[in-house]
Amino acid sequence: MNCVFCKITKKEIPAEIIYEDDKVIAFLDVNPVCLGHTLVLPKEHYKDFLSTPDELICQSIKIAKQLAPKIIKAVGATDLNLITNNGPYAGQSVEHLHFHLIPRGKDFPKPSWKTIGYKKGQMEKIAEKIRKYVKM
Ligand code: AMP
Repeated sequence: MNCVFCKITKKEIPAEIIYEDDKVIAFLDVNPVCLGHTLVLPKEHYKDFLSTPDELICQSIKIAKQLAPKIIKAVGATDLNLITNNGPYAGQSVEHLHFHLIPRGKDFPKPSWKTIGYKKGQMEKIAEKIRKYVKM
């Protein structure tokens, strides 16, 4: 398998690793959106968020939560984004589940969400459709 994150995990290619245990690894994103932008991921290879077993998701999120305040402090931030991109149209470029931990602060680059709004009645219709699948 030609997975760049598996290669980092196996120390076949270098990375700025800031944490690892037997299940989870965290290293700096080589192309950061903010200084200290970190990737947290299970060492075992799973393609994305939806295909990863719950235990590994929970373990990775738990480590992300432990690391977050330390990263924030280290880079002089105050806030953070925790993001995972699931699939190419969502912006996923590396097919090995990872969580982006992006420190933010007053003088940091701002997140850029572009909102599209709802037309009249559209929000209720979409909620109703989703509720049918969720079976509330
Ligand atoms: P995504 O686009 O959500 O799949 O995120 C993949 C991230 O991995 C991008 O932000 C890349 O900059 C980062 N990345 C790719 N290759 C490496 C690498 N060798 N070391 C560290 N980060 C990487």
